[in-house]
Amino acid sequence: MRLIFLGPPGSGKGTQARMVGDRLGLPQISTGDILREAIARDTDLGKKAKSYMDAGELVPDDVVLPLAERRIVEKDCKKGFILDGFPRTLAQAIGLEEVLQRQGCALDAVMFIDVDDAVVVERLSRRRVCPKCKAMYNLDTDPPKREGVCDRCQVALELRSDDKPETVKARMIVYRKNTLPLVEFYESRGILRRIDGEGEIGRVFDSIMGELSEARRN
Ligand code: AMP
Repeated sequence: MRLIFLGPPGSGKGTQARMVGDRLGLPQISTGDILREAIARDTDLGKKAKSYMDAGELVPDDVVLPLAERRIVEKDCKKGFILDGFPRTLAQAIGLEEVLQRQGCALDAVMFIDVDDAVVVERLSRRRVCPKCKAMYNLDTDPPKREGVCDRCQVALELRSDDKPETVKARMIVYRKNTLPLVEFYESRGILRRIDGEGEIGRVFDSIMGELSEARRN
């Protein structure tokens, strides 16, 4: 299956994309992770992306689109993939359609994980990430077993630099302006599925799996 997980920052789309990817044996592709990795390695891409990401703005389409395209055509994506955080603009969505068309395939479903603004702000302030394996925790609802340390890697957890309150505000504005129009775009393609993202992680996962079974039947 070729899937997109769409939603505001903090909607849990990354967590869910990982869980669904593990369950279905599909690679989860996060453009945010790819960009953060490039910043950590101080590559040309990282240097280009850093100032946008620090400000909570989108990295330009002409940087992100080729990056996503290169990843999607890799061998492990032949049987499908889950895109997390891409596309984020109409231009990216149209670019993605063209890439898939050239490969003779198409998207199966877009999971729109909807969460209220107030919940987003609260969740992001309590989110911690493992810099090594990228596992995400929430200090209230999904804390690590040992305080401040990743369960898997035993590495100290971090607050993502763009999860600071002032940057979160900027990311929400960008989301509304650039990314929310994709809901209508994919609705018009008949592949949008709405998920209530405010429940407990396991429950949200179950509704996504339910929607996916239905999408498969259609
Ligand atoms: P994320 O990890 O998906 O929340 O992304 C973190 C940041 O990376 C975003 O705030 C953007 O600055 C940048 N980014 C990630 N994916 C994209 C994309 N598809 N288009 C533009 N910028 C992106």
